[in-house]
Amino acid sequence: MGVDSALPVVDRVRPLVRENLHAIAPYVPGRPIADVMSEYGLQDVVKLASNENPWGPSPKVVAALQHALGAIHRYPDGAAKDLRAAIASQHGLQPESVLVSNGSDEMIKMLSETFLDHGDEVVVPYPSFAQYSSGAMVMGATIVQAPLRENLEYDIEAMVKSISPRTKLVYLCTPNNPTGTWLTHEQVRYFLDQIPQNIVVALDEAYLEYVTSTDPVRSLEFIREGRPVLSLRTFSKIYGLAGLRLGYALGDPQFLAFVNQVREPFNVNVLAQTAALAALSDQEHVALIREKNDQGRKQYYEALDQLGISYCKTQANFILVNVGDGLAIFDAMQQLGVIVRAGFAGLSQYVRISIGTTDENERCLQALEAVVER
Ligand SMILES: *Cc1c(COP(=O)(O)O)cnc(C)c1O
Repeated sequence: MGVDSALPVVDRVRPLVRENLHAIAPYVPGRPIADVMSEYGLQDVVKLASNENPWGPSPKVVAALQHALGAIHRYPDGAAKDLRAAIASQHGLQPESVLVSNGSDEMIKMLSETFLDHGDEVVVPYPSFAQYSSGAMVMGATIVQAPLRENLEYDIEAMVKSISPRTKLVYLCTPNNPTGTWLTHEQVRYFLDQIPQNIVVALDEAYLEYVTSTDPVRSLEFIREGRPVLSLRTFSKIYGLAGLRLGYALGDPQFLAFVNQVREPFNVNVLAQTAALAALSDQEHVALIREKNDQGRKQYYEALDQLGISYCKTQANFILVNVGDGLAIFDAMQQLGVIVRAGFAGLSQYVRISIGTTDENERCLQALEAVVER
């Protein structure tokens, strides 16, 4: 059979693509250092764009990885037995209450695949993490955005009002990315009490370990009460393992068993499992990073106050700064060798800056001062 050479491949394939995919905007990640170096001919570029841990993981992780390199021709333990046991014991849970994933991103996708069909509704805060919506849209679900307040704090009443009889899944992100604003335990309790008890509530706590406020959400309490609540955690942030991809969910074992049905058999690789076990064993390192990050937040608060630039108080490892024209400032800072993030839906006035080392923060603040005053 001949091929009609007049028709390009894209035109043959497009009609086969599931319709809901066409509406999904591709994820735009923070720009890699190497890209910015070559584009602007710069030698020294600072990346404060992806909320990475600038100090890296525990030295114990690096040692454990070197040892594990000898075993990469073997498949990983698909059930991640040792890792789930270690995570469970850290939280005082049974291993069955832990499900691991290739980054939290995969967990979000798995939740969508487990629960969502065409016409189902997913409630997300807005602005918040874009992956909640794209995961749901892949399945053809409808996104219902519950706006934050004007000051970018959570509006719990708006979240409650967004629930309908078609709602299957709700995301709460605290501290919220990209705003840095957070929920209190009592706010989450109030929300859970107001909504029907047969809706899945995913509490994304990617930045929980950075929280130093007095009332962080105690998500395990809600799980122990028998509510359909999940706590999503990651090794990408305070544990410094973004490049290895490892996240997990805590929840009711039988609830997690449903999600486990859509998990790929070997979704978490050997190196990620090894690294995470070593990372968990070094909580001193975690405490050190939390302390350094807290100092970094104060460094930004002080400098931004002096510059008269407004920002959102943050409990995370990033800060959302009101610069007037986010994309213009992003671009100008990039030319000075500092990569931040802008272009978040609904936040055109802002740039999001990840907290770096003291020197990186200083460099960033100098660049910001130079371009904002220009
Ligand atoms: C960074 C981040 C995650 C973690 O994603 P990984 O896939 O684990 O790297 C999850 N949720 C939010 C809101 C984040 O900002």
